[in-house]
Amino acid sequence: MAARIIDGKALAAEIREGLKPRIDALRLKGVHPCLCVILVGDDPASRVYVRNKGKACQEVGILSREHRLPASASQGELLTLVESLNRDPSVHGILVQLPLPKGIDPKPVLDAIDPAKDVDGFHPVNVGRLMIGEPLFPPCTPAGVLRLLEHAGVPLAGANAVVVGRSNIVGKPAALLLLQKDATVTLAHSRTRDLAGLCRRADILVAAIGKPRFITADMVRPGAAVIDVGINRLPDGKLAGDVDEAPCAQVAGWITPVPGGVGPMTITMLLENTLLAASR
Ligand code: NDP
Repeated sequence: MAARIIDGKALAAEIREGLKPRIDALRLKGVHPCLCVILVGDDPASRVYVRNKGKACQEVGILSREHRLPASASQGELLTLVESLNRDPSVHGILVQLPLPKGIDPKPVLDAIDPAKDVDGFHPVNVGRLMIGEPLFPPCTPAGVLRLLEHAGVPLAGANAVVVGRSNIVGKPAALLLLQKDATVTLAHSRTRDLAGLCRRADILVAAIGKPRFITADMVRPGAAVIDVGINRLPDGKLAGDVDEAPCAQVAGWITPVPGGVGPMTITMLLENTLLAASR
């Protein structure tokens, strides 16, 4: 039997509709949620991401401000901008679009963001709080993964979850969020032995690898929930996830498509975090 498709686009639209009245209510109290996005340089993909974030903010009534710096900007200039946004009480969320141009070390920049405005959840304080189950802001993509699983009604407590990929922004926090939901979590990476065998034992398989169609049908346990975080641009310009979608959908119980799965949820979680920051 073919897998049920977990429609991230539809769920994201539903959540965004739910955010609108909450944002309106806050505005009536005189607080207009505001997200500032900093874009350094002119990387075309980053420009698209920033534009999409701005559009999504507008749709739900969040004020979005874009701060552009030239690729030649110094680390000091960027830090000065972050600090001025930290001090500005009308700004609730600050996001630095990654990657930064060569020559700018992202770490001190991300560390400079006020943790209370760190709507991406990348600040070490927020990472640490996530570890103890008290995140100020859950990181957007992993939070989106969780919401998709919960919305689909996939049982989490006691489930064997395998997360492939251990990046700080996706794999590791996704594993922590699943653990907090009482899944038994294995975090796999490029040095994992018998990855296929491990994946085949997963009730929940999260792919965050960055390699198109890496997860093949023989790696999927019949009935498993397969969440594809990957976004890969193929030579023909099309997008592909990290999961070989059509064959895996013949084996899995649930599967997220690419595009239209995790992607729309990521921006939606960013909107939710901005509202959360403004509410506080
Ligand atoms: P990273 O490149 O930071 O991490 C990739 C991870 O995959 C690493 O931990 C790496 O292992 C692991 N890996 C690589 N090759 C293998 C292999 N052969 N076997 C097992 N594990 C392997 O990527 P990100 O976490 O930043 O992103 C992952 C994917 O998710 C990308 O396609 C990205 O575009 C997408 N993405 C999507 C988002 C969305 O909103 N949908 C948001 C963010 C990312 P090791 O650590 O050992 O090198």
